[in-house]
Amino acid sequence: MTIVVAVARTQRIVVVGGGVLGTMHAVMARRRGFEVVQLEREAEARGASVRNFGLVWVSGRKPGAELALALRARELWEELGGRVPGLGFRAAGSLTIATEDAELRLLKEAAGLPDADQRGFELLDPDGVRTVNPALRGEFAGGLLCRADAIVEPRKVLPALRGYLAASSEDDSGYQWLPGREVTEIAPNAVRDHTGAWHQCDLVILCPGAALTGVVGRYQSFLARDGVRRVRLQMMQTAPMAQRVTTSVADGDSLRYYPAYDLPGRSQLAPQSGTAARTRAQLLLVQRADGALTIGDTHEYDEPFAFDVDSDAYDHLAARAEALLGAPIPRVQRRWAGVYSEVTLGQALYHRSEVEPGVVLVTGPGGRGMTCSPAIAEETFF
Ligand SMILES: Cc1cc2nc3c(=O)[nH]c(=O)nc-3n(C[C@H](O)[C@H](O)[C@H](O)COP(=O)(O)OP(=O)(O)OC[C@H]3O[C@@H](n4cnc5c(N)ncnc54)[C@H](O)[C@@H]3O)c2cc1C
Repeated sequence: MTIVVAVARTQRIVVVGGGVLGTMHAVMARRRGFEVVQLEREAEARGASVRNFGLVWVSGRKPGAELALALRARELWEELGGRVPGLGFRAAGSLTIATEDAELRLLKEAAGLPDADQRGFELLDPDGVRTVNPALRGEFAGGLLCRADAIVEPRKVLPALRGYLAASSEDDSGYQWLPGREVTEIAPNAVRDHTGAWHQCDLVILCPGAALTGVVGRYQSFLARDGVRRVRLQMMQTAPMAQRVTTSVADGDSLRYYPAYDLPGRSQLAPQSGTAARTRAQLLLVQRADGALTIGDTHEYDEPFAFDVDSDAYDHLAARAEALLGAPIPRVQRRWAGVYSEVTLGQALYHRSEVEPGVVLVTGPGGRGMTCSPAIAEETFF
């Protein structure tokens, strides 16, 4: 849904939410010449946007509209990465590693699809995998290289983009960042924060992430149309590892989750067992710019979510990582969980609705939200 009518009259926009969707909306709104005020309830965003892998992930996307959105977003990330070095954008590519014959056959099937070139897919034997990524010294049957996949630094992206917005606005009227302001009321052409201050505007963009109660709670009927639900994931990060891990890495379990691999060969994969099945785990591994390894993840769909983290899941993911690296991972320094919201019904890739005249709600991109955020924001304004 493109918000053509509202945008045509707009000069000043209030963005609610300081995550990557809100911040990319601020970027795209400034590109259209609008004044932007961005409010965030926390002193700094603490939601999914800073808890993720920083994977700009094209490889797993469903053919068609989802792939097109991710490819457009990948272009925008690269362009922004050139302007904002603080994003840490790296066109590192990824390797999805097969340890069983059925996984390898499925990777071969994916590499043979008509859109394989757009993703930069190439099927590699074990020596080919080690040539591309010498850190992978474990036992495996082969891997699928995706040259289109990229990496950004999730803990740095938001302040870096805000710095870029501030630097490219001549004065405060161009871009204003207001942290520590929870929006509690929405009226035509204005929002009120918890201090009682009103912020006037022509258009409100709500990007609340997974905070679907509070001020957004009254729009549940809109969210229900796309079946928006919340998902909780567990993550960890190690101390820096001296050796470079040149690409991001996924294991064969990821073939069970990403729609790109919804191919005939998927039915031949052995069912997940034990901890992997219980926690719906897949291994994704990304080396941060400082050498640390970000490792995840699990998927919890039923609320109320656990408030604590489960060690069995971490042991499983660490063992998978060590099996592919053929070496111990450095000491785990950080563990956390994150929650995102995702659409589950119909063809929508995320939720966008005009919930009231001049008030647009954007959420629910799920596990593709970091990847697709610049393209989603672009679509709001065109
Ligand atoms: C563990 C994990 C790993 C992931 N890995 C990846 C990945 O590698 N690649 C990828 O593409 N995607 C990934 N995702 C998904 C991606 O992170 C999310 O889809 C994306 O960050 C959502 O961005 P957002 O801005 O909508 O939400 P958020 O980042 O949650 O931001 C929403 C913000 O709105 C603020 N807010 C809410 N209500 C109010 C209010 N009333 N007033 C003011 N502020 C308010 C919140 O405080 C919050 O800061 C991952 C998600 C998780 C949880």
